[in-house]
Amino acid sequence: MAFIHEDVGTTKRKKMTKSRALKIWEAHKGICVTCKQAIDATREDWFVEHIIALELGGKDEDPNCGPAHLSCKKDKDAADHRAAAQAKRRKQHQLGIKDPSRKRIPQPPRAPKKPSREMPARRSLYKDAS
Ligand SMILES: [Zn+2]
Repeated sequence: MAFIHEDVGTTKRKKMTKSRALKIWEAHKGICVTCKQAIDATREDWFVEHIIALELGGKDEDPNCGPAHLSCKKDKDAADHRAAAQAKRRKQHQLGIKDPSRKRIPQPPRAPKKPSREMPARRSLYKDAS
């Protein structure tokens, strides 16, 4: 398999060159930064992953990069996205920023619900007529 070049983020990133990928691979001795298992690059796809995701404040620097199995990367990315989204929501909450669509429009108080009148059992309605 092969090293995969892919850029999905919107953050400006440094170019991942072949020599940079090799340097990162060597620095980690081909160990996946996510599952800590050796990557068999002849059989498995791998990717240079940011150890601390950029969206979580990680730097796009080589010391923050390491090789990862493509499948591990997908799991890590999903977890990172969740963490980033959660951090964002927390910050918004702390700052009192609310989604306008979720903002509640004040409603006049509702009339209290009338207590439902208990109906007698159906059979008893006809009992006397027969
Ligand atoms: Zn892995």
